[in-house]
Amino acid sequence: MSQKCRARSDIIYLGGDDMKRKANVNTELCVACGSCVKVCPRSAISVPDGVFAVVDSALCVGCGKCAKECPASIIEIGGDIK
Ligand code: SF4
Ligand code: SF4
Repeated sequence: MSQKCRARSDIIYLGGDDMKRKANVNTELCVACGSCVKVCPRSAISVPDGVFAVVDSALCVGCGKCAKECPASIIEIGGDIK
């Protein structure tokens, strides 16, 4: 709780304040293939503008399925953020 946020300018979050164990997308490397969207059991990740994937942290449970599916391997599951 006492640690400050890291610089994460290339990562987009939507909704929720709890950043523990959430999927983090490197938006600069995302190719918007949509593979992560198809496997998410919570419908927490989407490609709303067709440019890069966005995670709704209020819905994400950090299961890692999207990270395993991503062909570019640019999704990380944060375990110690915040
Ligand atoms: S970690 Fe799981 S719940 Fe979160 S966006 Fe990826 S597939 Fe969905
Ligand atoms: S699977 Fe990876 S490259 Fe494809 S949309 Fe999701 S985050 Fe982007």
